[in-house]
Amino acid sequence: MVGVRYIGRFAPSPTGLLHAGSLVAALASWLDARAHNGQWLVRIEDIDAPRCVAGADKQILEQLAACGLVADSEPTWQSHRTYLYETALTQLIDKGWTYPCGCSRKEIEDVYVSLGQDLARHSAAVYPGTCRDGLNGKPARAWRLNVQAVIKALHLPQTLEWHNRRMGHQQQDVAREVGDFVLKRADGLWAYQLAVVVDDADQGITHVVRGEDLHDNTARQILLQKALGLPTPIYMHTPLVMGENGEKLSKQNGAQALDLQNPLAALNLAAKALGLNPCATNVEDALHEWTHVWLSSKSLL
Ligand code: GLU
Repeated sequence: MVGVRYIGRFAPSPTGLLHAGSLVAALASWLDARAHNGQWLVRIEDIDAPRCVAGADKQILEQLAACGLVADSEPTWQSHRTYLYETALTQLIDKGWTYPCGCSRKEIEDVYVSLGQDLARHSAAVYPGTCRDGLNGKPARAWRLNVQAVIKALHLPQTLEWHNRRMGHQQQDVAREVGDFVLKRADGLWAYQLAVVVDDADQGITHVVRGEDLHDNTARQILLQKALGLPTPIYMHTPLVMGENGEKLSKQNGAQALDLQNPLAALNLAAKALGLNPCATNVEDALHEWTHVWLSSKSLL
């Protein structure tokens, strides 16, 4: 694979430490970069300041290092890069593809109630478009992307299609299934979708390898890339690790931080989730062995 231009990344949010589930995405993205003779970057996604845990960023980098996963350049912090997100939002505003939104969550819920629909069963409710044609005197709270305006102006198909290296052909009608999504939140914070798209492009990311829980965001990100005139990376989403209760391991449901006393055991568990055989010797040999078999491993089938 020599000669393939490859820049990959792992982009943890420092809302807690790495756990067995997040190590799967970290390991897969590292192995994929190594197997392609590419570069592997680490980006700390700390724009949601109220949810970040003090010191978790440094500890995550230590956890990764203990597992032999060290970035090829200095890690970056999204909180240092907000000027890039501001520039991107201005670009979209200038195109006329955004609008300010004055709706509170309660007001959005009320629209669903008035339509006789139960929002609890539609937790990722499609924004009903209330402010698309004006704020009706309400103060602006957030900025939304006018999805249909982008699709129309760029002559994009209504249903976006893309390929996921592990999950195969994918498609989503963003206007119908997601709606006009938020770029800058009512609390003034940058939305994940905008920040991730801007950073992936700015850092020249060619391959995104991340957990399957983020799969549903991909179409929104591809649409934003097109709206901003940015390239679309190649995507692969890694399998989720389920806890004993049958739910995916996550910080929200109390997943244990990785045990740094035994990084090989943690790596072996992550490797198993990726369909790789455990390695009994040491971290360095394990990473070497898995890199060697990665591109023909079950993870990519
Ligand atoms: N920061 C996100 C998370 O920790 C990952 C973003 C991404 O890989 O696109 O879930």
